[in-house]
Amino acid sequence: MNFNHLIPKHEMLRECITGKHSYYPSGHIEAMIGGSIAVRFRCKKCGTGTTSFLTTEEHGTYRNVIERYIESKGV
Ligand SMILES: [Zn+2]
Repeated sequence: MNFNHLIPKHEMLRECITGKHSYYPSGHIEAMIGGSIAVRFRCKKCGTGTTSFLTTEEHGTYRNVIERYIESKGV
């Protein structure tokens, strides 16, 4: 499972040491005022962190895969 599609495009365009970032949930998820969900991601290759703001609808769609990943990694 790759989470790059949840990362803002301008973040994906920033350079990674190995060419292309490979973002995974860092385990930090925060509900924002206004209803969006901030999910922190970290690049497995270079360690760069980024935050993706999901709508509640998007979060509903991806919640399970994000949580399953976090649980499996114990982060
Ligand atoms: Zn990277």
